[in-house]
Formats: sequence, structure tokens, C-alpha cells
Amino acid sequence: MKVLYVCTELYPLLKTGGLGDVNGALPPALRDAGCDVRILLPGFPAIRAGVSRSRLAPASPLALPDGEGPRLANLGLSQPPSLQPATLPGSGLMAYVLDVRALFDRPGNPYYDAYGDNGIRFALLGWAAACLGLGLDPNWQPDVMHCHDWHTGLAPLYLRQMAMPGPAPAASVFTIHNLAYQGIFPPSLFPQLGLPDYLFGIDGIEFWGQVSFMKAGLQAADRITTVSPTYAREILGPEQGCGLDGLLRVRSAAVSGIINGVDYGVWSPSRDGLLAHPYDWDSLDNKNGAKAELQRKMGLQDDPGAMVFGVVSRLTEQKGLHLMEALCDELVTMGGQLAILGAGDAPLEQAFLRAAARNPGRIAVEIGYNESLAHAIMAGADAILVPSRFEPCGLTQLYGLRYGALPVVHRVGGLSDSVVDASAPNLQAGSATGFVFDEFSTQGLRGALRRAFDLRADPAAWAKVQRTAMQQRFDWREAASQYAALYRSLKPGAGIHPETTATP
Ligand code: ADP
Repeated sequence: MKVLYVCTELYPLLKTGGLGDVNGALPPALRDAGCDVRILLPGFPAIRAGVSRSRLAPASPLALPDGEGPRLANLGLSQPPSLQPATLPGSGLMAYVLDVRALFDRPGNPYYDAYGDNGIRFALLGWAAACLGLGLDPNWQPDVMHCHDWHTGLAPLYLRQMAMPGPAPAASVFTIHNLAYQGIFPPSLFPQLGLPDYLFGIDGIEFWGQVSFMKAGLQAADRITTVSPTYAREILGPEQGCGLDGLLRVRSAAVSGIINGVDYGVWSPSRDGLLAHPYDWDSLDNKNGAKAELQRKMGLQDDPGAMVFGVVSRLTEQKGLHLMEALCDELVTMGGQLAILGAGDAPLEQAFLRAAARNPGRIAVEIGYNESLAHAIMAGADAILVPSRFEPCGLTQLYGLRYGALPVVHRVGGLSDSVVDASAPNLQAGSATGFVFDEFSTQGLRGALRRAFDLRADPAAWAKVQRTAMQQRFDWREAASQYAALYRSLKPGAGIHPETTATP
């Protein structure tokens, strides 16, 4: 089974969030599950630097067909787009790097639309994927094209549009990692995409007068997956459907959820190269050293008895951290400490910085992105806070489980699929792994925090839950075998005649 895996970020080369972690870990797991995987990536500077530190593959670059697909004429490109074969460091997997310097060789966040040309940049990625899906590489024709998030949404549509009678093209799978980010562009983009006019309509990729890349993926892919079973159900309703629930309901027979895994080679407290004090579920005393180290690093009081809550997160509305902001002072009064690492919405950043200024030594905040501090917080914290309003899967709580930093989570999406609440019956049954609250409000979160403090007052009970949490496994092997089964269930070319689609 040959699988073309199409994505935009991949740990350790480039990561803006959980998507990078998934794309770093899932392809090698798919290979281990028996798939012949190749990855298509845009040539962002970090990707090009990463693959060149590895080695370029012996094959020569592949030119994309001229005069078809997205209209590039007025971009003044000095070289035609090509695909540069390469191998990825670490996994050794083969990659095709979309090499168009004028569009991708830009510093900073890969999704930042500095020149207002994100539409054409990611359309070109979709086009390149479709070309590979149709056999651009004479030596390697994929059976399945697996696309990730809106940046790749046009790939299944181009594939469908380009298919001719003849050899069956690849089947397509489109995975939603976050439905809230949809790749919406003004209608003036549409004529540049090289698609027939009728597709700019309600049964195509038009979304309230704009162009939607997410909708393109949902319309054209043979199968739609998302990253947890609960989120797969939630997006079929108006509350979490982000305006696309109507279309998703029509396609519901093609929608399923496969929960993400954890790369335990990177995220395990017993062999985490970023930790001075490795530990595991059977050597929990060593976690105290990690706590002392975190307190020192972040300027928190050296207080072994303090219950340390950690946050490692994008600071956006989705993550529900405004609930925590309202409870900062209360948490300190209850005897807690708070270690926050994150970046995002300026008002929330400022609010947390003010809370830290009010509570020196008890609340510490680092604004920014810091991989090694993220590991230090997981290791040093007693509990990790993920009170998201919605959460497709969430990796942070999975890391918290493995590090014995018990997750405090809202019962939604992948959070509810991965954390077992420390209710009396679950404590009794020995299945509890964290604290889950139902009502998305300050009151809801306050209740969960109180229950965490109460359990912590009983060190033996707390340690038992920690050990249970640390022994949970969200293995990529399991997710990869589910994806491989899904690929096998697809008939190549099934996407050329998808079921009729509906209004958004
Ligand atoms: P999302 O992808 O929605 O941001 P996830 O929980 O799925 O949320 O994944 C977040 C990933 O990004 C985790 O690997 C987490 O450790 C990492 N992360 C988030 N914010 C930061 C930060 N400020 N510094 C370092 N790592 C971060």
C-alpha cells in the first residue's frame, strides 16, 4: 500500500502545535504498519534546512506540469515549481519538497500571510499532491493520498478534477485536526485556482461568498477522519461544526475518528533527554527533583509541598484559559503554584503577566515558544490544565498523563476520550487518571481544581492515580493500524464520483 502523506509541518523540522507532533510520528508508524509512505511538504526554510542536513535522494527533481492548475503567471516566479526528492532525518522516510523559493522561502510562522498570497501558496501544494496522486513520479504511484488540515484541502479536489479515464488515481483521505481553522479566502482567489466555474457554488468550495479550502477537502475526499471519536461526533452538530456541520452530516458515512498517539520516544519521563531528573511510575520520588528544578527555572518559591499546576498552550479562545485567568488568585490562596508557558492573544498574555506580578513566587509566566521548558513543566507539575472550550484531540493532556501531571480538563473532544475523571467510583475501580469537568465556566473549573486539591491531601490516593495515569498508552501503533485498515478499505478512484454534497 503506497501512501502519499501531505502536510505542512513536521516535528522536529517545523512545529507550530500538535499538528507538527502528529506529522512527525504518524508516518513512521504507518511504515511500521506495512505502508510504503512518502511525504509531501512545502519548502519552508526549516524544512529545506532539515532535509539538506540529512541527504537529498538520488532521484532528480520532478517538474510540475506547465499551464494547468493554479495560475502562477503573474507571480513572476524565477523558476518553475518543482518537487525535490529528499530523505527526512530520523525516520529516513522519503519526502518530496515543493520547491518554490518565492512562495515558501520566508522566515517565521509558516502560515503567516505576509504577502496576501496564502491562497495560491497552499493551492499549489494541493496541486502538487494531486499531480503525484495521478502518477507524476513514474517510479512511485500512490494508492492513497492522505491530506492534513485546510492547507491541503484542495488536493482531493484537484485529484478528482484531473482524473481521466485510464489508470485509477489514488484514493483520498482528509484529516481534520482543527475544524475552526478553515483557510477562507476572498472570492477573487477563485479564478486563480484553475478550477471550473461551477465549483464556486454552494455544492463546491464556496462558503458564504468566500473560498474555503477546508470545504474543498470535505467535499472531495473519499474519507474524512478527525483526531478523536468524540470530536468526530461533535463536528456533526451546529455547536462544533463551525458552519460546515450540514456538509459533514451529508458525508457522515465517510466520517470517522481515530485518536492521536504520543511519540513516547520524545515524551517519556524515564528517557527524556531534556530532564535532569528522569523518573517513572515506579520511581515517583524522583519527580520531586523535577518539581524543584521547575520552581528554580521559573522563579517559583522552592516549596516541595506546593501543588504546582502547569499550562503549556497556545493562548487562544479555544483553550479556555480565560477561565483559569479568573481563578489565578484563588488558586494561590488554596496553596497552589501556577507555571504558564504560552503565546497567543495579547489580552490573555497580559492578564497572566499581571497575575504573576500580583503573585510573585507563586505564579510564573513565560510568553513564547520553548520546547525544553514545555518538557520541564510536564515533569515538574503535579497537574496540567487543559480547560479547552473545544479540543479535537489535544496532546498536552496525553503528555501530562505520561509525566504524572494529572490533567484537569473540560469534558469535550479528545479530552473526554483520554482522561478518566477521579470520581468516587473511578477512584474505587482504580481507573481514574485526572479531573474532568462538565460545565464550561469558571465555576466548573473551580470545582475540578478543588477536587484536585482534595485528592492531593491524601498522598497515597494521589500517587495511585498518578501511577494509573502514567501507565496509560496512546500508542501510534494503534492509530497507524486503524489508518492502514481505512486505506485498505478504499477503492482507488472512489473519490472521482463522491456522493452528492449538500449546502453548508
Ligand atoms: P494544539 O495543536 O491545538 O495547539 P495540542 O495539545 O494538540 O494543541 O498540541 C500542542 C503542542 O504544542 C504540544 O506538543 C505542546 O507541548 C506544544 N506547545 C504549545 N504551546 C507551546 C509553547 N508555548 N512552547 C512549547 N511548546 C508548546
